[in-house]
Amino acid sequence: MAFPSRLLTVLVCAVVLAGCKAKADGSGDAALTSTAAVASQSVGSKQGGDDAPPAEKTGGFDGKRAFAQVAKQVGFGPRPSGSAAIGQLQEYIQNELTSYGCKVDTDSFTADTPVGRLLMKNIVANVLGDKPGIIILATHYDTKLMQNFVGADDAGSSTGVMLELARLLCSKRGAYQVWITFFDGEEAMKEWSDADSRYGSRQMAAKMGMSGDIPKIKAFLLADIVGTRPPRFKRESDSTNWLVDLVWGTAKRLGYGDVFLDKSLEVSDDHDPFLKRKVPCVDVIDLENYPGGNLYYWHTPEDTLDKVSARSLAITGHVFLESVKQLQSK
Ligand SMILES: [Zn+2]
Repeated sequence: MAFPSRLLTVLVCAVVLAGCKAKADGSGDAALTSTAAVASQSVGSKQGGDDAPPAEKTGGFDGKRAFAQVAKQVGFGPRPSGSAAIGQLQEYIQNELTSYGCKVDTDSFTADTPVGRLLMKNIVANVLGDKPGIIILATHYDTKLMQNFVGADDAGSSTGVMLELARLLCSKRGAYQVWITFFDGEEAMKEWSDADSRYGSRQMAAKMGMSGDIPKIKAFLLADIVGTRPPRFKRESDSTNWLVDLVWGTAKRLGYGDVFLDKSLEVSDDHDPFLKRKVPCVDVIDLENYPGGNLYYWHTPEDTLDKVSARSLAITGHVFLESVKQLQSK
């Protein structure tokens, strides 16, 4: 994920899209259940997704399922762009989305990076709509190139949230299309810069710019590092005010005023290539979870499954679901 802007900044990327038709969920249940079981055995009960509120309290969003999706990803091991493990994850994400009835589009592209030319892939689940206009929900799914880094929170958490959102949304045609987007190559291969980072989001934004689709984007909602315990999201200061207000207002209405704080934070992330093209964006990210400093396990091998809270995933998912409802009625 992401970089606190006061340390640095950047950008790159690809596309995909997808549409969906209604289909009952459940195809991935067996695999997920066994993953959840393994997860709870390996990290203990309190930290194995057991802190998830019942799904009916979070708009149908199942925090336990989202947590199991994080555990599944961690099970693939380190997943940097171009690795065999990320290839397995790509296949898994596509299979999951298809099992939910999503129309899945992929964009495979090559990126020239400081460690050589890498094959990358953006994956999009496209929920059909009745009116012109696209709402994008996004995450990255690659993990930082670092030994023993399994990226449970970065980017397992937000990828788990987006998979669960796809399970709920792919069967629901709305006013506008919803593109649930999984970016490759957010992480820098060496040092975060405009040229080395955000390969997937740069690719997609550039492609949508060329196709003329950029003006159709009503809103771009990004999640990144959302499994923190407890979560404390700050208003990302480069993001678009009305959209931040909409998401934060929704969160407060749902009773999450102690999670979505009225403090600000500046972060470079996958929303930047879209912000540059005047797309309304918001980035929900927790990078300053501890007083006076960054998240202590960020970009270290300590970013393991025990750091991820199913309750945090559920809160994030609930707020995204309700924010999409708001946007659909605008
Ligand atoms: Zn990161």
